[in-house]
Amino acid sequence: MAAVPTTPEVYGRRLLAADAPPQHAVQFYEDEAQLIDVVAAHFESALARGEACVGIATAPHRTALLGRIGVHERLILLDADATLAMFITDGRPDRERFRATVAPVIRDAAARGSAVRAFGEMVDRLCRVGRRDSALELERLWNDLAGELSFTLVCGYALDSFRSDADRAAFEDVCASHSHVVPAAGVELALEDDAHIRQISLLQQRTRALETEIAERRRVEEDLRRALRVRDDFISLASHELRTPLAILHLQAQSLQRAPGDIVEKTGRIARTAHRITSLIDQLFDVARLDHERLELERRDVDLDVITRDVVGHFEEELERFECPLTLTSESVVGSWDPIRVGLVVSNLLANAIKYGRRAPIEIAVSSDGSHGVLSVRDHGIGIAAEDHGRIFQRFERAAPSENYGGLGLGLWITRAIVEQHGGMIAVESAPGEGALFTVRLPC
Ligand code: ADP
Repeated sequence: MAAVPTTPEVYGRRLLAADAPPQHAVQFYEDEAQLIDVVAAHFESALARGEACVGIATAPHRTALLGRIGVHERLILLDADATLAMFITDGRPDRERFRATVAPVIRDAAARGSAVRAFGEMVDRLCRVGRRDSALELERLWNDLAGELSFTLVCGYALDSFRSDADRAAFEDVCASHSHVVPAAGVELALEDDAHIRQISLLQQRTRALETEIAERRRVEEDLRRALRVRDDFISLASHELRTPLAILHLQAQSLQRAPGDIVEKTGRIARTAHRITSLIDQLFDVARLDHERLELERRDVDLDVITRDVVGHFEEELERFECPLTLTSESVVGSWDPIRVGLVVSNLLANAIKYGRRAPIEIAVSSDGSHGVLSVRDHGIGIAAEDHGRIFQRFERAAPSENYGGLGLGLWITRAIVEQHGGMIAVESAPGEGALFTVRLPC
């Protein structure tokens, strides 16, 4: 027992390059260089003593070892994944096939040198794909084989394979199945005492797990912060959006008070504005919910023609105010759809056609292609650049300058969600200055 503080690198080299290396050691590592350094020192000292070496390693590690040691007649290097594939069935090692694969290699090495020193990382390959149980089984198979054939073995494990707290038991099992443990670099070993070094290794795994947890918490915290920012933006935008139709409603009510004569016409206008506010609020509810759950559709047999005409009726004032001529070509097409949500789709597309349409004519068409109801809304306004065609369907994404056009950047996002939830699709054809054509297809 040496009482001088040392490092895992020094300890590993001294342990493995000794004349009589341990029967079955494990080398943990974070830095590939540490692994290569220790294994190369191990092999070089063995080759110098006239012993043979077997390395069952990944391609980069074989290349690095060859770079350090060079080709040697007593050095056998095999690919870890290809060797594993010879005896793994359904992710588990098969005892007989393991023996049939590995024993001849050890015998071949024994025939070449006075003793056999093996290094393997097939176990780590299994851990990396989440098969820790299989890795431990493979460790047992190696231990069994060592009872029959004479060789020593060093297993290389990336510390990263045990990066979460849930990996603690597996890490302890791996340590327990080896006669010696060499920790990854970055810690100080006060004593070269096996029990002490095992304790240090366990602490190293816990530190790694804590680092992972801290990083995960930071990520969650950042996500929460972003979500809060998005919500704050959304609330201020939403209140701004609601203010406009409420102001119109207020003016309409005042006008009714001043001149109650036109009561039928004026209350009709008030009702339509109130309807627009209601559908804006419906939409805000959907937006809030869509963040963490799917929309619950309330499907029943409805006619897309009826829904579209109804929505167009509610836009009468707006069309008049914007002096937008609208042509509606519509035929009856019945499907099992959620009428309120499909109404929102029509309403969002028409509202955009008016808003971005530069007072040019708008054409709406409803038809059937046999299996789908097809709705198209065409305007001749500012248009959309090709690179924005995908983006505008994302949440809060806007392509028009906000100083000229108000909006939440939510209408198309929710429109697409509604359409897709119905099993349908929405597409846009447009170019800047050439207007836009939005086509929605809903399966009947
Ligand atoms: P909003 O109109 O509130 O910004 P939308 O989600 O409805 O949000 O639309 C997203 C963006 O897509 C708009 O900001 C605009 O840039 C673009 N857009 C949508 N419809 C049209 C259209 N008919 N013509 C031109 N641009 C449009």
